[in-house]
Amino acid sequence: MLFSVTSAERKISFRVEHQCPQCGAPATLGEDTLFFVCGFCRVRSCISQKGFFRYMFSLSKDAPRECEVVYLPYWRFKGVRYACHLTGVEHRFMDISALALKGHPVHIPFSLGLRSQALPLKLAANDTRGKFVRPLEFKATIMASDKRTSAAQKSREPVFKEDIGETFSLIYSPFYIRNNRLVDGILNKATRAMVPGDLDITSLSLCRPEKETVFIPGICPSCGWDLDGHLDSLVVVCKNCHTLWRARGSRLAKIKYGCARPEHPDHVMVPFWKIKAEMAPLAMASYADLVRMGNLPKVVQPEWEDQALFFWAPAFKIRPRTFLGLNTRLAIVQPDPPLEKKIHGNVHLPVTLPSSEAVQSIKITLASLVRPLKNFLPGLADLRIRPTSITLVFLPFEPRHHDYFHRELNFTINKNILALSGNL
Ligand SMILES: [Zn+2]
Ligand SMILES: [Zn+2]
Repeated sequence: MLFSVTSAERKISFRVEHQCPQCGAPATLGEDTLFFVCGFCRVRSCISQKGFFRYMFSLSKDAPRECEVVYLPYWRFKGVRYACHLTGVEHRFMDISALALKGHPVHIPFSLGLRSQALPLKLAANDTRGKFVRPLEFKATIMASDKRTSAAQKSREPVFKEDIGETFSLIYSPFYIRNNRLVDGILNKATRAMVPGDLDITSLSLCRPEKETVFIPGICPSCGWDLDGHLDSLVVVCKNCHTLWRARGSRLAKIKYGCARPEHPDHVMVPFWKIKAEMAPLAMASYADLVRMGNLPKVVQPEWEDQALFFWAPAFKIRPRTFLGLNTRLAIVQPDPPLEKKIHGNVHLPVTLPSSEAVQSIKITLASLVRPLKNFLPGLADLRIRPTSITLVFLPFEPRHHDYFHRELNFTINKNILALSGNL
């Protein structure tokens, strides 16, 4: 099975070897790390990448010196697949790596598997010796991998599906040819693939890993203060001038945000993306439209016809059930607390889900809300969502014995599933 529906402890997590851009000291970090403080020189860095990260495994030291190395691409995806059926929205956790090669030659390892977990990855560097094979696009790779799922599963094709990702990267794995056989360059062990035959190396389209990873100094561009952030946080904070930043290309870009005032220093600030979007061809622009399409048990008030509709999504990783629950609850309640541009001393949950994924989740939110679902679902599949405004909003949740509670939303998040592993 390609889709390992895992318990938390079985989740695959790769390690990546980095170097401090200031002093060159090595730093082995998790694959989701985006901000780090060098253990030697204490310099702070944000790790920035255009699009997705491109990693590679090193060629075994035992590989013959004169061999010609071919790096084959694998897509790495960790996230949740939401499948929208006529009967409702289903979800499953996915933690996969899949060979991104056309035709998917059968004798080449289809996934990187658990064995590679023990080895650290490196950033794919342009000056690496060898050939890099251009990856098949992610969707085509995943579609091919779906063919490997059982017929029983296939008979239940959803009307549409969305993959909301937590981790998305490309990993190159080295291979070389020995006695007409393709050899796994990590293990230095021949695969069953004959070359040529099972794989025609000369026909593969090549590329170079050009879009390099950039390290940006973790210093506030506005005031020069040290930025703070959790290792996996997409957003870093300047606690001096109360600004939030996100790495974009080779610079830091300011993030539009607002905080609802916490009533108590113990309240935990939970981040959400608040999105306004055009949804062609669906005419859903006002809150009244949502109440009607969702068949909500409310009488449409005249002022709701002009009340702009916002979609919300958690800006952090959370279990699918809670993710969907929050999305729908926020859409129904449409909270509109006064917001301030001030980072209080409270604990702020790190932002670990990008806004692009939140935009993608709008379709799922709609599929959980509209009634009757069968009338709307085919239309939702073709919906084109264009965000017109995105703001990061922190809402204070009150800690209770077993959960965190938001009064206006009347929503609780279990303490066990909200890992308060760090502050913003
Ligand atoms: Zn350093
Ligand atoms: Zn600042």
